[in-house]
Amino acid sequence: MKKRFLVIGAHPDDADFAFAGTAAKIAKEGGEVFLGVVTDGSKGEDVLKQKKGKLLAKKREEEQKNSAKITGVRDVYFLREKDGEIENDYNLRKKLVRIIREIKPDIVVSFDPGNFSFEGFYRFHRDHRISAVAVFDAVYPAAGSSNFFPELLKEGLNVHNVNELWFFSTKKSEFTIDISDTIDVKIKSLLEHKSQIKDTKKFAEKIRERAKKEGTEKISYGESFRKIKMN
Ligand SMILES: [Zn+2]
Repeated sequence: MKKRFLVIGAHPDDADFAFAGTAAKIAKEGGEVFLGVVTDGSKGEDVLKQKKGKLLAKKREEEQKNSAKITGVRDVYFLREKDGEIENDYNLRKKLVRIIREIKPDIVVSFDPGNFSFEGFYRFHRDHRISAVAVFDAVYPAAGSSNFFPELLKEGLNVHNVNELWFFSTKKSEFTIDISDTIDVKIKSLLEHKSQIKDTKKFAEKIRERAKKEGTEKISYGESFRKIKMN
């Protein structure tokens, strides 16, 4: 997959849970992966004092950078919105359009904006729902139209049309990437999110189990997605 991917999660670690195995595979095969992280992750543990939240946000950025090094991600863009309090507004869409026009990815990957049925919890987290829709709105039509955010054109950030959108954490997965060769890299990269992990061994087992579940008869370990072709 010699393509350029931009993977956008709501919190530090979201993209790794969904895509780290595929990211490592793409990097191995000569493609490029960039990460975008919408929130600062400052509510990732009980933080009663604001100062503690800020410290946690800083720590989680470091963890995300370390994890990205392991999978071969080229660069991480932190949008630093407040954890748990994002809105799909002009400000967030502009930040998203900015990185899309800067990176110029062939494929953008994020949470499924169709996740609104609330029969579980993780994929329906407010930040996951809102960032999913905001990413879609940023890709289409905003990033590819000079009518949107013309002030970015003046900065030299020209319009960019994304070819495909892939959605993770989806209920309607359509294809599975074989990550059997990179499952160990995925686990290693996720273990870098130390502030979020209590029991390292149990955590690693859970990741392996989930990848097995997402696999198929022919794929031992997988990551699955839904896809929309944009042109
Ligand atoms: Zn998350």
